[in-house]
Amino acid sequence: MSAASRLTGWFRKAPTVLRAGHPSLRVKAEPIKVEDIPTQKIQRVIREMKGVFSSPYTPVVGLAAPQIGHPIRLIAYRLEDKKLLEERRIDPVPLTFLINPTLLITDKDPETKWSAEYESCESVPNYNALVKRAGHVKVEALDLKGNKVSFSTGGFLARLLQHEMDHLDGVLFTDRMDCKSFRHDKYIDKYELYTGR
Ligand SMILES: [Zn+2]
Repeated sequence: MSAASRLTGWFRKAPTVLRAGHPSLRVKAEPIKVEDIPTQKIQRVIREMKGVFSSPYTPVVGLAAPQIGHPIRLIAYRLEDKKLLEERRIDPVPLTFLINPTLLITDKDPETKWSAEYESCESVPNYNALVKRAGHVKVEALDLKGNKVSFSTGGFLARLLQHEMDHLDGVLFTDRMDCKSFRHDKYIDKYELYTGR
């Protein structure tokens, strides 16, 4: 056994997250058949996605399979970053996978009450922009065992889920952003007065 093969966790090379311009980010991903969940093919994608979450080079809170080149309807998210939890005042969520997720917007007054907040994406690195999203959603999906899961959520997680599920339909946040708010990360907290116009 070589030294390299003993390395685990974040030492293992995580798959590359594809960047805007790669065709994989623009296709409509295929649903996963329940009977295919245990197959090597799907399990490998799950392992690769876990690799992205455990890499220090990809500080993601959410990821969709097409972002690493697999056009299947699989997303994952994890809300455990201390700074994020404090800033957003949200409860931690361990790494969670959703298969074939569907989303129902449950805001009573859509459009008018949707809030715009800055979003970023590992596929569009170093930039962020204001995106208007629904505040409350209901999600139905399968878990990794193929069991049906259904839950309602709001705030940051609702936004994250809308962002990740957009990836399954070949949509990036840059398609939905307020174009003039598009900015480099180095200007965060610097020119807030000029944003959102
Ligand atoms: Zn993204």
